[in-house]
Amino acid sequence: MSCIFCSIIKGEIPCNKIYEDDKVLAFHDISPEAPVHFLVIPKEHIQSVNNINEENSDIISHIFIVINKLVRELNISESGYRIINNCGEDGGQTVNHIHFHVLGARELKWPPG
Ligand code: 5GP
Ligand code: ZN
Repeated sequence: MSCIFCSIIKGEIPCNKIYEDDKVLAFHDISPEAPVHFLVIPKEHIQSVNNINEENSDIISHIFIVINKLVRELNISESGYRIINNCGEDGGQTVNHIHFHVLGARELKWPPG
């Protein structure tokens, strides 16, 4: 099974990396929707939030701790930002490896439409 984000984690596909540790990778989205638009993904392949359970849910809190650090480093913590997770076809998920988008450095419309 090929997964573009697993290939990025393995270094087979390059990315503009912001942060990495043993559990997660954060990198700039290739097609940014805002001046700041990065993705945070677990190194473990988990398809979507549908596959989060008692055994693997610690990764979600870790991802949010990493986001907290990165938004401060990228100077959007005070101006504000949006964290997005798309799940499944109707949710607009195009890469089936769970990921959280973080967008900021511009005013974001709500509702998104
Ligand atoms: P989704 O629509 O699944 O929530 O979001 C997938 C995101 O991954 C999209 O915003 C898309 O631009 C981004 N993306 C897809 N392929 C690549 C890639 O090879 N490199 C990077 N940096 N981002 C990618
Ligand atoms: Zn994957």
